[in-house]
Amino acid sequence: MKEEIKMENQTLMQYFEWYLPADGNHWTRLAEDAQHLADLGIRKVWMPPAFKATSNNDVGYGVYDLFDLGEFDQKGTVRTKYGFKADYLQAIQALKDAGIQPMADVVLNHKAAADGLEEFEVVEVDPMDRNKVLTEPFTIQGWTKFTFDGRNGAYNDFHWHWYHFTGTDYDASRNKNGIYQIQGDNKGWAHGDLVDNENGNYDYLMYADLDFKHPEVIQNIYDWADWFIETTGVTGFRLDAVKHIDSFFMRNFIRDIKEKYGQDFYVFGEFWNPDKEANLDYLEKIEERFDLVDVRLHMNLFEAGQAGSDYDLRTIFDDSLSQIKPERAVTFVDNHDTQRGQALESTVEEWFKPAAYALILLREQGLPCVFYGDYYGISGQYAQQDFKAVLDRLLAIRKELAYGEQTDYFDDPNCIGWVRSGADNQAPLAVLISNAQDNYKTMFVGPEWADHTFVDLLGNHSDQVTINAEGYGDFPVAERSVSVWGLTF
Ligand code: CA
Repeated sequence: MKEEIKMENQTLMQYFEWYLPADGNHWTRLAEDAQHLADLGIRKVWMPPAFKATSNNDVGYGVYDLFDLGEFDQKGTVRTKYGFKADYLQAIQALKDAGIQPMADVVLNHKAAADGLEEFEVVEVDPMDRNKVLTEPFTIQGWTKFTFDGRNGAYNDFHWHWYHFTGTDYDASRNKNGIYQIQGDNKGWAHGDLVDNENGNYDYLMYADLDFKHPEVIQNIYDWADWFIETTGVTGFRLDAVKHIDSFFMRNFIRDIKEKYGQDFYVFGEFWNPDKEANLDYLEKIEERFDLVDVRLHMNLFEAGQAGSDYDLRTIFDDSLSQIKPERAVTFVDNHDTQRGQALESTVEEWFKPAAYALILLREQGLPCVFYGDYYGISGQYAQQDFKAVLDRLLAIRKELAYGEQTDYFDDPNCIGWVRSGADNQAPLAVLISNAQDNYKTMFVGPEWADHTFVDLLGNHSDQVTINAEGYGDFPVAERSVSVWGLTF
């Protein structure tokens, strides 16, 4: 008898993709889908940014007003791409009623679509090396004045001005684009140790970049967080673009939020960097107060899909967070940035998606995140088929069967496998992936399963496998396929 208590596997879902219709009905769709998601074993949902952005077509990352959740007539619209504030609150409540943690996408790096121009002093820097100053200080007109007139001081009366930002990218007086670093007392980019060092110093990403050295900025973000969490009832954050944000601020901010709202307030960050050392270094800087998306694993999955039989599947987890820091890894196959036509396009090829999802859903390591675009499909110019059928199977297997000790058979560049021993006397699972011809592997599931017949729970292979007296089975897998062998359930 195993003594361990079965802890249910946790699964996260990213409930949006880039090309959702801008019909204002997404929050309603989410509310109606909540119970279905819970039945699949989804326990956390990452919702798209709910804030008033540049327009009602904006996916949400061009954030304008953190205090407008689709409530005020600003930027030509009351609702956001996803609906009205009341719809958002209703979706959050529906998730909670279904036992799901609602998580907000929090965009703190920048602000877009300012209400007015201001004059201030800048230097222009080299986009490829933001530490390299190209000009003497000069005056520009920049979009840095945020007064939120449509909200008229509701909830918070803070106005933003040029001195709350580190930089901007447009000089209206000369109609010229560039990266302009704002000058003044205690101005400049975040310290180089606190942001990514790509392009010299990657504090500046886009729009008007928040200056987290400024005490009024810090205070306003803290005020906003209290208002936002208490208003919406979200119980987690997905932090956008953290490699561009002062890590000292972020560490303190999340520490303070968890102290106030509980350690169960779940937070993970988008640290978009596939480098192992950079991830370890960042986790140390934030004192591991939140998890990170496993970018390296995504890139490995992408490369494996592209390379086909030339990819050595034994290296699929190499240098990934799920290998080097599994307790901090949020694993994913694709997201809104990696889908076709997007900034970080690196879509895992369709033939490999089921295998990729098996690799994140059926192993011990990492908190896996299912992408809306993979589950429901993507329509339009960059269409992608849905993987609902196979994901329904994989999610059910994850929820019910993917437990217990994990034994790897990563012994062939074109065919890898692993066994999960099962928990609470459940039957084990034997998973195989091939990126070349059909293949098989002899794997150990235990003599207590002798004479039992295993089938492919994904239905990709029609054989039956009988376990021998020593507890081994010869498990097959078809060409460029994945099979999950277990007892029918
Ligand atoms: Ca920044």
